[in-house]
Amino acid sequence: MPTHIYDIAIIGAGASGLQLLYELIQADPQQKILILDSGDRSAKSWCFWEDKDATCFPFLVEKSWHSMTYRSSEGETLKSPIHPLQYNYISSDRFFAYFFDEFIPAKPNITLVNCKANKIQEGGELHSVICEDNSTYYAKRVADSRPQKSEKPDVIYQHFSGKFIEFEEPILDESSMTLMDFSLPVSTSEMAVFHYILPFSKTKALIETTVFTQLAYDREAYERIWQDYIQTHYSTHKFKILSNEMGTIPMGGVTQKRDGSVFNIGTSGGNMKASTGYAFTRMHEDAKQRAQNLSRKTPNRFRFYDKMLLKIMKNEMNKIPEVMDRLFSKVQTPQILQFLDDKSSLADDIKLLSKLDIPLFVKHLLR
Ligand SMILES: Cc1cc2nc3c(=O)[nH]c(=O)nc-3n(C[C@H](O)[C@H](O)[C@H](O)COP(=O)(O)OP(=O)(O)OC[C@H]3O[C@@H](n4cnc5c(N)ncnc54)[C@H](O)[C@@H]3O)c2cc1C
Repeated sequence: MPTHIYDIAIIGAGASGLQLLYELIQADPQQKILILDSGDRSAKSWCFWEDKDATCFPFLVEKSWHSMTYRSSEGETLKSPIHPLQYNYISSDRFFAYFFDEFIPAKPNITLVNCKANKIQEGGELHSVICEDNSTYYAKRVADSRPQKSEKPDVIYQHFSGKFIEFEEPILDESSMTLMDFSLPVSTSEMAVFHYILPFSKTKALIETTVFTQLAYDREAYERIWQDYIQTHYSTHKFKILSNEMGTIPMGGVTQKRDGSVFNIGTSGGNMKASTGYAFTRMHEDAKQRAQNLSRKTPNRFRFYDKMLLKIMKNEMNKIPEVMDRLFSKVQTPQILQFLDDKSSLADDIKLLSKLDIPLFVKHLLR
């Protein structure tokens, strides 16, 4: 019999692992929690929308926007208030500093170990996690957030290539973030490209090239596109680059183990919205459910909508800017956000879907 048994072992101290840790402690402050992390973390900016009753780490939110901009492939700018929602930003720097410098050190029942978990051996009541250095840990439950490769060969990726920049002059409209700007004509049948802008102040912003594609990450191509975008919109303004943000997420198609006492969380637990890549609030909802021994469920109809949009991306990627243009020009932005967050009613969905290119959706429905 092992001498040390944890109530739960969490593999991965990233977004989902730490959110779960937080919610477990809220539910039962005394439980013994082990958290294993290999240190393969990258800097990210986590954004999400919530209403005024926000529950997703409001004390870590660094900036909120109450207005959102969409720029179409024709160059038309649609700026819209998103009341009652707000778009929130949490930097991974702040998130990790809170957990590693404050939350974990204050709780002696949490053990943080730096190691690479290689294998989980499932037992009846007790499971073991074996690390690369052969150390073994025992726990009654295991939550696993190690990234998993998609088993599907034709998976769509969302690639990010962004830079935090600072302009010499105050030229930015910090009141509105840009969710999607399709105005740079670089989308093709193989990739849909848009720009995402978070203006933190009148001078500082994250400007990110975002690409939906089945192709591998192409750093040089995305760098050229980013430069093109800056040249097109800010050619007369001087700026310096503060830091970079890069990354890739697979959209849909990741295997997940959601039931039992050994389960996946985070991206590998199916908590990423397949058609948009947003995961932060879904991981939080899942963490709250897991703390009560339950799990987050996505209603079937939202899975169906996601599948349909992914089908269009797979078969007619060049149609994506058009689909988005039509959506944002015909539907109020807060309604789109509720829909993308799986929070709209069936009646709202029907209203929203009726504004889209019906023949295109029916074609992919029948495919
Ligand atoms: C650049 C970028 C920007 C994003 N922006 C947003 C956003 O704005 N809003 C949003 O909702 N989502 C966003 N996402 C998607 C998603 O929220 C993030 O990818 C999120 O970090 C996923 O959380 P996770 O816990 O699944 O994985 P991670 O946060 O990557 O955590 C996994 C952890 O597991 C550890 N690990 C890996 N292998 C092992 C191992 N063998 N043993 C032990 N530990 C291991 C790693 O060190 C890491 O700490 C973004 C993703 C990227 C890539």
